Amino acid sequence: MVLEYLPTMNNRVWIFDTTLRDGEQSPGCSMNVPEKLRMAAKLVELGVDILEAGFPIASDGDFEAVDAVSRQFESTQVAALARCTRGDIERAAASLQHAKRPRIHTFIATSDIHLKYKLKKSRQQVVDDACAAVELARKHVDDVEFSAEDGARTDLDYLEEVSKAVVAAGARTVNIPDTVGYSTPEEYGAKIGHIVKALGDTAIVSVHCHDDLGLAVANSLAAIQAGARQVECTINGIGERAGNCSLEEIVMVLKTRHDRYPYTTGINAEHLYGSSQLLSGIISFGPQPNKAIVGRNAFAHEAGIHQDGYLKERTTYEIIDPKSVGVPEGKLVLGKHSGRHALKKRLEDLGFDLSKEQLDVVYGEITALADNKKGLMDEEIADLARRSQLVLA
Ligand code: MN
Repeated sequence: MVLEYLPTMNNRVWIFDTTLRDGEQSPGCSMNVPEKLRMAAKLVELGVDILEAGFPIASDGDFEAVDAVSRQFESTQVAALARCTRGDIERAAASLQHAKRPRIHTFIATSDIHLKYKLKKSRQQVVDDACAAVELARKHVDDVEFSAEDGARTDLDYLEEVSKAVVAAGARTVNIPDTVGYSTPEEYGAKIGHIVKALGDTAIVSVHCHDDLGLAVANSLAAIQAGARQVECTINGIGERAGNCSLEEIVMVLKTRHDRYPYTTGINAEHLYGSSQLLSGIISFGPQPNKAIVGRNAFAHEAGIHQDGYLKERTTYEIIDPKSVGVPEGKLVLGKHSGRHALKKRLEDLGFDLSKEQLDVVYGEITALADNKKGLMDEEIADLARRSQLVLA
């Protein structure tokens, strides 16, 4: 089977979203199946290329989530995670049974520290396990991704050996994660460049960076420049420990600084803020207020000199038009003391034109909800508006 895309063909970067897998497995971020489906619908609207929906062997909930997402979102590539064992791969394959575009994502650690203390396996055993897993996965699906866990801390020659072996076994994507967020942009870029060169056009090289040193986006960017063409990332940067590369940040770097980074993605940026808000509503916590792109203060101007410049010409202090990432105008907080007028204005900003009866219903629900909250997320308000439109069509 011929690859759909080759790393050298163009400057299109594939966005592999793992909000529902790596993001979901971090503290406070658990999502049940209906919640994952709501989030998946938004991610599809956002335009992610590959949606990793769970780790099916880990729980029945994860299995059901992959199955449900596969059935509901036919046009999107759906990925399921599996360790390099028969049980994991067969479970992943079963969860993807109804997917139109299934991907099995199998992984094993390759760094000496993981081999010695965690796996207690030799380098040769790990290569053998990896190839056997990829071959088995290819019996079920055409599209197999292999991840060399802790790749950033893996010996370069051995990493090249593993990468070539899994591609020969049938992997189409080779992911080199910085699992523990230890790498730096120059170091990681050089490593990725080496693997890209070694694999040539035989596979797409992917990256998956954690943010332990606050470098996940910078490292992913260095990797793209070195030839990686898939980035694994999450909304609001949620994920293990300090989180993953933030989807909204990497996408907006490529868009805003296209002069330096001439790469494109399939992301519809105007859905970034809505995706962030929906996730915040589902997992009950949002990004920090000063978070780039989607934080509450990301487009707020407080200092007098800044306000003065901004009011004379927006671009004096704003490098991104907030509307382009879906941030509604007017940062009024809607709470239980807000009036109907403020609600109507916010709904208009969010794109709703409600009848008086519909507005009354939403207003009543918001007043009731706001009693136990400090303020409502835009996406919750949008949800209530959509429901009122269904009930009072
Ligand atoms: Mn991870």
